[in-house]
Amino acid sequence: MQARGVDVIDLGIGAPDLPTPAFIIDALAEAARLPANHRYSSYYGCREFREAVASFYRQRYGVELNPDTEVLTLIGSKEGIAHLIQAVVNPGETVLVPNPGYPVYRSAVHLSGAKAVDLPLDATNGYAPKFSDVKKSYKDAAKLMLLNYPANPTAATIELSTYLEAVAFSKENQLLLANDMAYDLITFRDYQSPSVLQVPDAKDVAIEFGSLSKSFNMTGWRIGYAVGNKDAIKALSTLKSNLDSSQFLPIQLAAARALESDLAVVKKHATVFEKRMEKMHAALQRLGISAEKPRGTIFLWVQVPKPYTSAAFAEKLLEDAGIIITPGTAFGTAGEGYARIALTVDEQRLDEAIIRLEQLDIKGGNGT
Ligand SMILES: *Cc1c(COP(=O)(O)O)cnc(C)c1O
Repeated sequence: MQARGVDVIDLGIGAPDLPTPAFIIDALAEAARLPANHRYSSYYGCREFREAVASFYRQRYGVELNPDTEVLTLIGSKEGIAHLIQAVVNPGETVLVPNPGYPVYRSAVHLSGAKAVDLPLDATNGYAPKFSDVKKSYKDAAKLMLLNYPANPTAATIELSTYLEAVAFSKENQLLLANDMAYDLITFRDYQSPSVLQVPDAKDVAIEFGSLSKSFNMTGWRIGYAVGNKDAIKALSTLKSNLDSSQFLPIQLAAARALESDLAVVKKHATVFEKRMEKMHAALQRLGISAEKPRGTIFLWVQVPKPYTSAAFAEKLLEDAGIIITPGTAFGTAGEGYARIALTVDEQRLDEAIIRLEQLDIKGGNGT
C-alpha cells in the first residue's frame, strides 16, 4: 500500500518509537573506545551488568540475587526464552503457554519438539491465569509454564497474589515457572508491577526474564537478562555457551548504566505512552469500541465490534483507513474477537489515525 502511495499508519509494531536516552548512548560510545572491551565477554555476561541487574532487583523489588549464579546476560529476552525451552524441555514434553500470548512462546516450544498446551486466559478474569481451570492431563504432563505480566498483547497487569498462586501451582505440579517481564517498567501512575521472585522461596521454581528493549527504548541493542532459579540459569547458560558468546561488552556496560540510573527517564517515557493510551481510549469509547484501560504496556487490547472477526476488522482498517493493527488471533485462538493497538506513534499521528477511524463506516461492515 505504501508503494501505491498510501500514507499507512502503523499501530501494529510492538516496539517503542522513542529514542534511547542520551546517557546510555554516551556510555556505549565511551566503552566502545576502550580496546579492552573489544574482546569476548564471559559466557555469563560481564560482571558489571550482572551486578547492575542484582542491584536493580534489590532496589526495585527487594529481591536478593547472586550475580554469579542467579543472573545471566541475554542477547535480548526473546533468545533467552526460546533457548530456555530448548534447555529444559525434551522433545515430546509439555509446556503450558498463555493463550492469548506472545507468539514466540508457542513457536519456540514447537521448534524444540515439545508440545504447547493452553494456559487459559480471558477477560472475565482480567487475563490472570485460572489455575483451577487447567486440565488435569495438562497439569500432570507440563514441565514448564510461561507467564507474562504486564502482558503482551492484552496489556493485563496483576497483583503479587497472582504470583503467589503461580508459585504454589508450579510447586504442586513440579514444573518450572518462567515469567516474562518485558514491560516491567512501563506502568502508569502509582501502579508497580511485581516480580515473581518477591514470592517467598520462588527461586525454588521460578526464572524471570527482563529486557532493556521496551523500558529504555533499546530494542535493536539486544540486551536482556534471566534471573532466579540457579539450575535453570545454569542449563540456559550451558546451552548458550555452545551457541553464542554473550553480548558486546560496551552494550552490556551501557545497559548496566541504564539499570543503575534513577529510572526518571523510564517514568517520563511511561507517561508518554499513558497519554497516548488515554487519547486513543477516549476516541474508541466515542466510537463505541470497548477496551479496558490498562495500567501498563504500550498496547490497547480492544474488543472488535460486531459482526467482524479479528482478521476482518484488521483488514477493514487497513483497506479503508490505511491503519495497521494486529488481529487478536495472531496471539492465539483465544484472541478471536479482539485486536491489539500499539501506541507506538506520536500524538499527532495518533490524532490522524483517530480522524480516519471517525470517518470509517465501521457499522457498515458485513463482517467477512
Ligand atoms: C518485545 C517482547 C519480548 C522481546 O524482547 P527482547 O528483549 O527485545 O528480545 C519478550 N516478551 C514480550 C512479551 C515482548 O513483547
